[in-house]
Amino acid sequence: MSNYELDKGVLIVVSAPSGAGKTSICRKFIEMFPNVRFSVSYTTRSPRPGEVPGRDYNFVTTETFRQMIARGEFIEWVENYGDLYGTSKTQIASFLEKGHDVLLDIESRGAKEVKKLFSGAVFIFVLPPSLSELGRRLAKRGETEKTISRRLEASLDEIREAMWYDYIVVNDDLKDAVERFRAIYIAERSKRGRFEEKIRSFLKQ
Ligand code: 5GP
Repeated sequence: MSNYELDKGVLIVVSAPSGAGKTSICRKFIEMFPNVRFSVSYTTRSPRPGEVPGRDYNFVTTETFRQMIARGEFIEWVENYGDLYGTSKTQIASFLEKGHDVLLDIESRGAKEVKKLFSGAVFIFVLPPSLSELGRRLAKRGETEKTISRRLEASLDEIREAMWYDYIVVNDDLKDAVERFRAIYIAERSKRGRFEEKIRSFLKQ
């Protein structure tokens, strides 16, 4: 995996504090580009209403997850609020080998690990328009006061990590945020490094 090359496919890593609207952006983005595959993480947490196994996550037991760690099946994994989350090595490798680009929706600790392994990956951080708006969005989800303030604190910890990401998308308006995401992807896909083989093939003739 470490011999990942720029011409193999783009690896897009997206992180955000909860309530920033990352999932909606990712869904719309995936619909726009059929060549982009979503990396379906493994997790030990229970499915939420509406979540589909194999589409949103691969839901597994802690025992299975631990066995997967022991077999070295994850590119990265983390413990988040008592649940385990991990990115599958074989899934990513198979997508990249088939020429797909891959979108990873993971938190910043995992993203940092991915950065070490894939120097050509693109890192996007989704920010809410403001802290008060983030609070409003979390409140809308019907959380208690205590949970909201705990989540806001966790959000600030996550936002601190935005400093090392390549791009920031502020999600004020979903359509605009998706458009920015799209622009970043197209620009990244157009980087010279991804075309060196092609340029060489012109010069050989
Ligand atoms: P949720 O439980 O709300 O779906 O996800 C909680 C957090 O875990 C989100 O920030 C999400 O991006 C992150 N996450 C999901 N899958 C993975 C993974 O495979 N690795 C890491 N590091 N984080 C993940």
